[in-house]
Amino acid sequence: MKVEKITYFCVLFYLFTSIKSIDMLDTSIEYLKGVGAYRAEALNSKLGIFTFEHLLEYFPFRYVDKTKFHTISQVNSEDEAYQIRGVIRRIDEQGEGHKKRAVLTFRDETGVVELVWFKGLNWVKTLKVGQEYIIYGRPEIFNHNVSFVHPEIELVTPNNTDKKVSAMSPVYSSSKELENRGLDSKGIAALVRTLFEKIHPQRHLVMETLPESILKKFNFPSRYEALLHIHFPKNDAQLAMARKRLKFEELFFLQLRMIQSKVMRKRGDRGFIFNIIGDYFNKFYKTGLKFDLTGAQKRVLKEIRRDVGSGYQMNRLVQGDVGSGKTVVAFMAMLMALDNGHQAAMIAPTEILAQQHFQSIAEMAHPMGIKVGILTGSVKGKARKSLLAALENQELDIVIGTHAIFEDTVVFKSLGLAIIDEQHRFGVTQRAKMWDKKDKIAPHILVMTATPIPRTLAMTLYGDLDVSVIDEMPPGRIPIKTFHKYESQRLWVFGLMKKEIEKGRQVYIVYPLIDESEAEALAEVKNLYQGIEAIEREFPKPQYQISIVHGQQKPDEKDYEMQRFAKGETQIMVATTVIEVGVNVPNATVMIIENAERFGLAQLHQLRGRVGRGGGEAFCVLMTAFKLSEEGRFRMQTMCDSTDGFVISEADLKLRGPGNIEGTQQSGMVNLRLADLVKDSDMLHTARYIAEEVLEKDEFLQLPENLPLLRTLNKAQKTYGFGRIS
Ligand code: ADP
Ligand code: MG
Repeated sequence: MKVEKITYFCVLFYLFTSIKSIDMLDTSIEYLKGVGAYRAEALNSKLGIFTFEHLLEYFPFRYVDKTKFHTISQVNSEDEAYQIRGVIRRIDEQGEGHKKRAVLTFRDETGVVELVWFKGLNWVKTLKVGQEYIIYGRPEIFNHNVSFVHPEIELVTPNNTDKKVSAMSPVYSSSKELENRGLDSKGIAALVRTLFEKIHPQRHLVMETLPESILKKFNFPSRYEALLHIHFPKNDAQLAMARKRLKFEELFFLQLRMIQSKVMRKRGDRGFIFNIIGDYFNKFYKTGLKFDLTGAQKRVLKEIRRDVGSGYQMNRLVQGDVGSGKTVVAFMAMLMALDNGHQAAMIAPTEILAQQHFQSIAEMAHPMGIKVGILTGSVKGKARKSLLAALENQELDIVIGTHAIFEDTVVFKSLGLAIIDEQHRFGVTQRAKMWDKKDKIAPHILVMTATPIPRTLAMTLYGDLDVSVIDEMPPGRIPIKTFHKYESQRLWVFGLMKKEIEKGRQVYIVYPLIDESEAEALAEVKNLYQGIEAIEREFPKPQYQISIVHGQQKPDEKDYEMQRFAKGETQIMVATTVIEVGVNVPNATVMIIENAERFGLAQLHQLRGRVGRGGGEAFCVLMTAFKLSEEGRFRMQTMCDSTDGFVISEADLKLRGPGNIEGTQQSGMVNLRLADLVKDSDMLHTARYIAEEVLEKDEFLQLPENLPLLRTLNKAQKTYGFGRIS
């Protein structure tokens, strides 16, 4: 009773203080001294600053560090700003008309530099030769001659050598329009200063967003201090602490929201309970499987099993590199559904892939008497009608297909599990939703992706989904040998092709398709045919047969060519990237990628995964121009060094940053102000861990100590509509 009362008062107290502080920081920016309607309008539209709080959260992007002095001899980089104390030796005027400029000779005990002004020449003349000044700016260095154009310059006084100069000043990004309204970086800094002066007397009312325990644990400054120090740090150490705290806060709340919404989703969506591990599953495990499952496959199956037995709908993403053995995992998950009296469906991105899945699933299913059907756009008329009927009365246990399965006319008697093979596409959540409208209980959802996503990114992108990783290859796989070659080594490449073809193997040659536009596409085809001429000369008929597939062909034409290659009627497949999601040809052992520098790492890895599916030795050759950008060279090197999709995706993330990795833009999850998913991945893990710890102890954030969290989440939800993701 007593404890409850105390809690109650605590809550009231917090609410009271928070309401007051909200009042102050939520004040419209217009009412800050020095702003007014005219500037407020620009702040609103250009920077999204509407309130006092928004201005506090508009962080500087760098600082002018005037805490240090340099000597002229130390000046060696055009990318840095220097502060130098020295004496003006001469003032000259040079040039005529609009080229007229003032050139000052400035020296300290270590050397001489030139200071140049093109404007304000009359003012420059008021500077005094023989006097000591402090300059600040970025140099231009040419043939060891150093000059500063329009540096900041100030007379040395007792004042600026210690107090005033010993601070770091913030630099804010601005724009022409803001500058026109007096809001250049300095103008913004002045507003921020005014704001701090205004709130300083009431600083205890600036809402703390983190619980005391977290602040203590990491020795973080309070929120007020952190904000003050990120704008106006006294030194590097203070700035570092402020940044650390604010970064942590950003990542921590991101994770907190993710975990909460995952928990909420799980509670919300009732799922079928598969509590029987029955005949199908056991029989297949004992007699149907032709190999031992890898440890990773077993682990993922256990994770799936736990989900489907929980009573809540499964929403699981299975990541696994090409060849890691996702199909058998998918099939065994289907068996779980069948053992419990339900049906299962599998959806592939293309018709060809659906065909292929159908074949491999049917092969495993038929010996056990399981009925499998295929439903794609090309299944029409009577065949379609009887298939739909068979699904509705459960004569069919499993259906494999394309998105045609999502159509309203497709009705299952009892769909227990839907597996979505995304290849390398995202958009998991909208897919998962597609059943909501139709059925009473939504089926369990398993999404398979062959694009490994770096863990840090997965944690953020899919933080509210369950993610399984098949991070182990079936035993006996020989890593694909990868080479980087230039045009001058073409004969070597032909030699490799011939050797493999002699062994009865097949070869892919891929050309990049860059743009979808007509002109570009035609140019690509031309490029392709030029390549083919050379290949035909080297590999003449009838000894060699060549398939050609490109974007300008009709679908059946493409299909026909692919089938010829798949059946082994042709030895060489020359293609634009269409084969990226194309057929599985286990007999293909060589992948040659032309103009490889034009492909990103993820794509190169996907393409390479097309070969070596038969288990033997396989090769990938990356052909590039001799002249390569540094980044291009790094990509080729990465591919030659590793065949592990996770290693490659981490490299890709480092190279391009999280914003450019496929699927991240839509998510809106990477619009972080301070934190960087690559550089701050350690902190992200810590934030995740702490968020989990907090929610484990106090799921609904009802403890008084967690009130700052609840308040912050509620406020964010009101402002941005966060809180629900899927
Ligand atoms: P993915 O779909 O992940 O690219 P697949 O499921 O097509 O990979 O599997 C690739 C090949 O490896 C298939 O021929 C499959 O039969 C085989 N395979 C799968 N799991 C194992 C395993 N544990 N041991 C040996 N071979 C396996
Ligand atoms: Mg597969």
